[in-house]
Amino acid sequence: MRYYSLNGKAPAVGFREAVVQGQAPDRGLYFPGSIPVLPATFWNRISTIDDEEIGWRVLAPYVGDALPEAELRRIVRETLSFPLPIVRVTDRMSVLELFHGPTLAFKDIGARFLSRCLGYFARDLEQRVVVLVATSGDTGGAVANSFYGVPGTEVVVLYPSGKVSPVQERQIAALGGNVHALEVAADFDTCQALVKQAFADAELRERIYLTSANSINVARWLPQQLYYALAWKQWAPKETPPVVSVPSGNFGNIGAGLLLQRSGLPLPHFVAACNANDAVPAFLETGQFPRRAAQATLSNAMDIADPSNFIRIQELFGNDRNALRQVLRATRTGDAATRATIRQVYEEQHYVLDPHTAVAWQGLEQVLRPGERGLVLSTAHPVKFPQVVSEETGAAVPYPASVKGLLDQPLRQAALPASYDALRSLLLQLC
Ligand SMILES: *Cc1c(COP(=O)(O)O)cnc(C)c1O
Repeated sequence: MRYYSLNGKAPAVGFREAVVQGQAPDRGLYFPGSIPVLPATFWNRISTIDDEEIGWRVLAPYVGDALPEAELRRIVRETLSFPLPIVRVTDRMSVLELFHGPTLAFKDIGARFLSRCLGYFARDLEQRVVVLVATSGDTGGAVANSFYGVPGTEVVVLYPSGKVSPVQERQIAALGGNVHALEVAADFDTCQALVKQAFADAELRERIYLTSANSINVARWLPQQLYYALAWKQWAPKETPPVVSVPSGNFGNIGAGLLLQRSGLPLPHFVAACNANDAVPAFLETGQFPRRAAQATLSNAMDIADPSNFIRIQELFGNDRNALRQVLRATRTGDAATRATIRQVYEEQHYVLDPHTAVAWQGLEQVLRPGERGLVLSTAHPVKFPQVVSEETGAAVPYPASVKGLLDQPLRQAALPASYDALRSLLLQLC
């Protein structure tokens, strides 16, 4: 498989190079040169195929010969090492729980696949690969946890001091080993600016292999197709496929679902559920992207004004807005309705939604037509947002066992002054 840059000014590359580079040299996102189609027998008999085999069938065409078959199968197995159950909450509404991974969020799936691909590719390099990320909370934990102990990799996570929750801080800073947690006495934007400066530092990049592990990397994007296939495997009865509602921020998650639809996934309708950051709903309505700054909301992982992966969805639909609207409905849900949804679903069904999942539930209710059934993708465990959830349900959210142990762990972070020189010399010392 070749990947071309959506900016059109860089050469096409294979899977390995696309993963190691992350972003094309012309700053475009990589996009697959062709989309594989899986035969009808695969989709019809999916309930009889085991998960690893499904993962391998979906991803092998995208990986090509960049990984040996046994290696790709091992990576798929390690990516799918936690349950992804569908819970039927009402007759009309079900939830696909994607939050049973080590950091309790769906990002664990993409990050695990990416880390293992990079670990494999790093074997042939004479140096370790340095993964550098700035985080406002969630991404840092998923990346740190996924790369922890992967040979040939060093992970550097910058986080703003005092701005991440105790659980998030431990997910980033309790690991040690090849995970270097740097606490910066500044806000997230400053952390992000330091990281961007490192990526723009050509001289530094000649000396170390620096990679970003962010959500535009194809090895984070493509494996997200797997849980759509596994949802279809579990869905019964198969005659009435659900409308799938996806809490959307950067649009990588829903983009992966729409990509798998091209490979034959029999799920005809998707909902891009947004919070007050409604660039895509506005675009689908008017054909124009509003120019607004991101607004802070309760579903903060979706507070994105300019969703970077949406360009992949437009490419998938040949930049034809009307074609896209046949498949995709887009909704907006404000904080008040998010809270009311958490409260109502708890009172009526005793099911606890996190704020991101509540946005997707509410969006689906706005657009679900009579006779349709809905499937809500749940991207985070409610315990990650204890305050708003307990305010609406009146009950504390119990910690899962995995997190309880974490809270007793000592932190191993180092303080980093908010200066690029300090970050640069630290990075050079790692190799
Ligand atoms: C990252 C994230 C999202 C948004 O996913 P995208 O792929 O960026 O659209 C939604 N919910 C949670 C909990 C997240 O962490």
